[in-house]
Amino acid sequence: MKRNIKLSLPHLSGSEQKYIDEAMRDCWIVPLGPHVDEFEHRLENYLRCSQVVALSAGTAAIHLGLVMLDVKAGDEVIVQDLTFSASANPVRYQGATPVFVDSEPDTWNMSPDLLRHAIDDRIKVTGRKPKAIIPVHLYGMPAKMDEIRAIAAEYDIPILEDAAEALGSEYKGRMCGTLGRYGALSFNGNKIITTSGGGALVCPGAEEAARVKFYATQSRENRPYYYHEVIGFNYRLSNISAAIGCGQIESLQARVERRRAIHRLYSEMLSDIEGITVQENPSDELSSNFWLSTILIDPATGIIPDNLRLALAEKGIETRLLWRPMHMMPFFADCPAYTDGTAESLFVRGLCLPSGSSLTDEDIIFVAETIRSYIHDHRI
Ligand SMILES: *Cc1c(COP(=O)(O)O)cnc(C)c1O
Repeated sequence: MKRNIKLSLPHLSGSEQKYIDEAMRDCWIVPLGPHVDEFEHRLENYLRCSQVVALSAGTAAIHLGLVMLDVKAGDEVIVQDLTFSASANPVRYQGATPVFVDSEPDTWNMSPDLLRHAIDDRIKVTGRKPKAIIPVHLYGMPAKMDEIRAIAAEYDIPILEDAAEALGSEYKGRMCGTLGRYGALSFNGNKIITTSGGGALVCPGAEEAARVKFYATQSRENRPYYYHEVIGFNYRLSNISAAIGCGQIESLQARVERRRAIHRLYSEMLSDIEGITVQENPSDELSSNFWLSTILIDPATGIIPDNLRLALAEKGIETRLLWRPMHMMPFFADCPAYTDGTAESLFVRGLCLPSGSSLTDEDIIFVAETIRSYIHDHRI
């Protein structure tokens, strides 16, 4: 029998329907309302921070973060090269230019050394410093934030953290998403919790949060007619989506723990295979939520990740290659990039394994055994 083991599917907590029913009963079927407020409040509690604004997508959160940081046409913004395109697209929405910075091999995230080099070089080439820095916690693994923050502080450039994949990840005891001036979260269907589609922006204070809400609701000035002094966006989260979020967040910590347990199981079952490396927390101070468990395959095995992906797909197992570096995307080809080959090398060696919190141990064991036998049969 062919299995149906997906990479990362939504996982209900059981109380979503209750909150949706409440919202329907009271006719709160608009992009504001009690469930939006409650969802924000619960996120603040979870993240141990004071100002979270719920939005329609993680991409919208990054976009409004850039608006708040006054990123405009002609500006440059440093973005991690190895990431999903939604980290960089909003820079373009603002008419600004992303400047890509390669990863370091421990966390696969923004290299502090290349970040410094990129800032120095941009100042030399353009006479201006980049307007913001967007590090990403890829697959949930926290970036080297102390080093990145120190450089950002030295040059006085704000950080917009892309924590879309890292809800529940911790860096030195602090929650990812709260480590920059702004932090973006995603509740897309494949993320650690979902509102079907949604996101949030973690803000430094009440004033900023109020401004984000203003932008997110069409920048309407307080007048009896519709009047706008600045451009607006329709980015607020629907109250129905927020009701789903209220249910989802009740299980958030359990979902994080489950993904970590899945990762441990993969580690136990795969790390003794020669040529396979399961990505691990590089130190005790970094605690990934392991949104996706990932492996690297040594090219010396002769095994090509995409061939393994296809073989697994035949058994009903969904896997995915790593994010393709942004500097290799046609629509970003003309952007400055500071690379040393790390992201490209990870891209050609890596594979993301099924990691959804609703998968059973038996599913994970089946995946690991299928990988083991494929490698046994195909290695050179
Ligand atoms: C999912 C994701 C986003 C975008 O979030 P959406 O809610 O899908 O708009 C941004 N950055 C990264 C790294 C992501 O994985």
